[in-house]
This record gives sequence, structure tokens and C-alpha cells, in this order.
Amino acid sequence: MKSNKTYTEIESCRACGAEDLATIISLGEHPLANSLKVDPDQEEEKFPLTLMFCSTCCLVQLRETVPKEVLFKSYVWVTGTSKTARDFREEFYKSTTKYFENKNLFVVEVASNDGTFLEPFKKGGHKVLGVDPAENIAQIANSNGIQTISEFFGLKAADSIVDDYGQADCVIARNVVPHSEELHEVIAGIERCLKNDGVGAIEFHYTQAILDGVQYDSIYHEHLSYFSLYSICHLLERYNLFPFDILESPISGGALVVYFSKVKRVASNKFEERKISENKTGILKKEKWEEFAGACIAHKEKLLALLKAETDKESRLIGYGASARSSTLLNFCGINNFGLACIADGNTIKHGKFAPGANIPIVSPDLAFSEMPDTILLLAWNFKDEILSVLKEKYRFRGKVIIPLPSSPHVIKI
Ligand SMILES: [Zn+2]
Repeated sequence: MKSNKTYTEIESCRACGAEDLATIISLGEHPLANSLKVDPDQEEEKFPLTLMFCSTCCLVQLRETVPKEVLFKSYVWVTGTSKTARDFREEFYKSTTKYFENKNLFVVEVASNDGTFLEPFKKGGHKVLGVDPAENIAQIANSNGIQTISEFFGLKAADSIVDDYGQADCVIARNVVPHSEELHEVIAGIERCLKNDGVGAIEFHYTQAILDGVQYDSIYHEHLSYFSLYSICHLLERYNLFPFDILESPISGGALVVYFSKVKRVASNKFEERKISENKTGILKKEKWEEFAGACIAHKEKLLALLKAETDKESRLIGYGASARSSTLLNFCGINNFGLACIADGNTIKHGKFAPGANIPIVSPDLAFSEMPDTILLLAWNFKDEILSVLKEKYRFRGKVIIPLPSSPHVIKI
């Protein structure tokens, strides 16, 4: 393993250990996507960002690993701020509890963030426990009545949870396994926490959505592994965890929840059909990912041409949504504060700061719209419907919105 002081590079697959890794695309040098700057002149370290493909287990993955202590100690994403996430949690709750017959459950959530997804379980009379390494976010959860331990989840944390509370009927890990440097520790910890007749649920941004929608903006240093159903099953089965069902999730622009158990269950039709479809779509083939690399570069050129057409007309152009993904998009495409006057974002933690690398000020939507923008680049396009209704109804915005992704960038008028 090569290393310098702040990052390392893998030489074998994060999931299966095979050494036949192929480079899909190098996205260049990027700052950390969630490290917002407090001062535009602040120096920031940049790291290479390279996507690889494992020919053995088909896991798409980052070559570079930035230590988790650097990435996650103070986290700016708060689940509860997203309406899409709040709506999906009800569906997730119903889908997850249907495997249990009206039993009172003990539910553990790994990387539970502000406890948004545990809330319906608590309201439903179940016992809940969250685990999240971000101290600032765990505090929010605890003050909202969702008991949350602030630490990184692995075998050690799993052991102490089992000692203190017993094994869980249900262990949830939403959008955390792809972010885990210690992938095997997390899966082994989930296995340790789960009762023999329990059900686990792992949610991940689905590579089929990434491939089909050219969602290169979802590639950033926190997001180490990019799963297909095939590659997550390959990993879980190493730990005698047997996947049997899936649930589609609208999070991240197309995610998948996989349900699994320690005792084999009859797989659902949906699960079997998805496994068959992955053999046909090319998601498990290196050649298809090489096409993806070409599509990323073509996408960048088209997006820059759209933005240039707006700036040539001297339109006031702003961004909306200073998400981690926006950082990859802005830095890969080379969009900076000469292209966008500011980025509006509803999360108050981000106000007064600057987008990493691009140095664009992040402001409240109220402030951004007080200056009458002509055109909006919808950086948080994965919350498109929710944001467009805010633009129209709250801010009475009438003008052009550039939708950068998924697939080809395009302009709509609202
Ligand atoms: Zn592999």
C-alpha cells in the first residue's frame, strides 16, 4: 500500500482482496467534498480521485483512502433537512417491519445521523439505538430523544452494544457501508449485533443509477465503495449473511436497500429479477465502466457550454445545494466563483462558508434570492422536485434552471 501522510492507495479490492483492479477514470485532484472553507484564502489539501473496478467481485471503488478521522469527525450532512429522506423513512419503516409479525423490536442503526430514520421505529413502540461518529450530529439525535452513541461502528462497538443491550432484531446501515474504510469490520459488526432470526438492511447508492445517469458527481473521497446487488451479495455472503429482498430508494439519485438474514430466507421475485437484470445491463463488466468514463468527459463539456451561454449573456447565475456531490461536479468541471455568484443551501451549518476548491460563497436561500438570480444551476439535482417547488412557491422564482444530471445536462424554464 502506497501512502503519504494523509492518504493511502489500495492495491487490492476493498471487498474481496483480489489484485486485478482496473482504472475506470481519474477525476483529477480534489479537495475533501465536505470540508467547507471558512475563508476563501484558506489553504486546502487536494487528493487524487480515481475510480477502479474489481474483475473478481465487480466492486467499483476508489483507489485513494483518506483516513476516516479526517473525513467524518465533524459532519455537515443532516438527514432530517431533506424532505425526500423524511418521506422515504416512512416507506422504509413499513418495508422493514413487514418481516416481523407485530413484535416489539430492538433496532440498531449504524451511522444513524440525527436519528431521522429511527424516529418511526420509536413512534411505533420499538426500542432504538443509534451509533454515529459525528459528535455534533449525535448530540442533535440525543436531544431529539433518539438515544445515540458517538463512535465509529465496528466489532468493538458491536461487542459493547451486545453486552449492554443484547443482540438486535434489526440492524440498519443506510449509506454508510460504501463510506467505510473498514468495510469488513462494519459487516462483521453488523453480523455480531444481529439476532439469529433478525433482519439486516443495508442501503447504498446503486451503481446501476450511477452508470445509467452518468452520476460521476457521487464520486468523492468519503464514498469508497460503489455497490451493485451482485457485489454487495458477494460481500455479505462471506459473513454468512444471506440477502433475500430489495427496496428501491429515491435517496442519492437512485439507491437500493438490500435485506439479509443469518438464516436463509426465500428470496423475493424482485430480488431474483434484479440479479438477473444486472447480468444484462453491463454493470458487472469493465468495458461498460470504460464507456462511463467517456460519458463523464462528454458531460463536462456539455455542461460547461450551457454555463458559458448563460455567463455570455451576463445572466446572474447561482448554484443551489452545496452538497458533497456538488464539490466533485464543480471541481471536475472547473466551475468557480466566476461562473456562479453563490450557492444557496438551506443548511445553516454551511452559511458563510465557501465551497471547497471552487471558493464559491454558500449563503441562505433567502439571501441568494434577494439578489434576483436569472439562472440556477441545480447542484442538488437529486432533490429536484423538492427544490423546484421551493423555488416556485417560496421564492416565486421565474427563470431558467440548469439540471446537470442525471444523464445529459439540460435547461428548463419555470
Ligand atoms: Zn473484489
